[in-house]
Amino acid sequence: MPRSFVHEARRPVGRRRDRIRPIIERLAAEHADAKIALEFRSPVELLISVMLSAQTTDVNVNRVTATLFQKYRRPEDYLSVPREELEQDVYATGFFRQKAKSIQGAMRVLLDEFGGEVPKMVDELLRLPGVARKTANVVAAELGNPQGVVVDTHVRRLSQRLGLSRREDPVKIERDLVKLVPRADWGRFPHLLIWHGRRVCDARRPRCEECVLADLCPSSRVEVDEIVAYP
Ligand code: SF4
Repeated sequence: MPRSFVHEARRPVGRRRDRIRPIIERLAAEHADAKIALEFRSPVELLISVMLSAQTTDVNVNRVTATLFQKYRRPEDYLSVPREELEQDVYATGFFRQKAKSIQGAMRVLLDEFGGEVPKMVDELLRLPGVARKTANVVAAELGNPQGVVVDTHVRRLSQRLGLSRREDPVKIERDLVKLVPRADWGRFPHLLIWHGRRVCDARRPRCEECVLADLCPSSRVEVDEIVAYP
C-alpha cells in the first residue's frame, strides 16, 4: 500500500461539501493550463499513449510516441507487423512485451467490434484487451465523456490532504469524489489536482505558504493567523 496522507488532515476547516466549489474554482484559476500531459492527435493515439503510460512517465511516453505515431497511423498498422517489431518500438516504455501484446489485442477488437473507432463508454473500453478501469476512465474523459474521476497517485494524495476522502484504496477514493465533485467537473478535476500536486503540493515538501488552498486545507502547515483567505 502506498504512503497514506490521511493523518495529515487535522485542522478544522469545515465540511468538504462546502469547500469543494472554492477548491475547484481556485485551482482552475491557478492552473488554467492544466490538461493531460500525453501528446496525441487522435482517439487511437490517445488510447495507445494511455496504454503505454502504465509504470512510466508521461515524458517518456511522449518521447516514444513521437516516432511511434509516424510509423503507425491506423489500427491496422499495429497488426501489420510481427509482435516482436512492435515490442522493439515500445521497448523504452518498459513492460514492452505485455504492452505490445495488449496494443495488438486492443487494435484487433477495435477493428472487429467498433469499426476501428475508439468507443467513448467505459464499459466498452473495458472490452479491449489490456485496458483496465483507470485507462478506460482517462480515455473516456479525454474524449469528452467522463464517467468517473481518475485517481492516480497525485489525486489520491491531494484528496487525502484536502480531507476530501479518508480512504486509502483508489477505487473507494473515486467513490467519494464522484459524490462530492459536480459531474460537469469530473473531467478536469483530476488534472487540477495533478498539476497542483506537481507544482505546489509535493509529496515530501508541500509548499503550503504558497498554496491558494491553505485556508481550505486541513493539512496546511501554515499557522492559521498567517493564512491569506482567498475570496
Ligand atoms: S500545499 Fe496546499 S493542498 Fe497541499 S497540504 Fe499545503 S495547504 Fe494543503
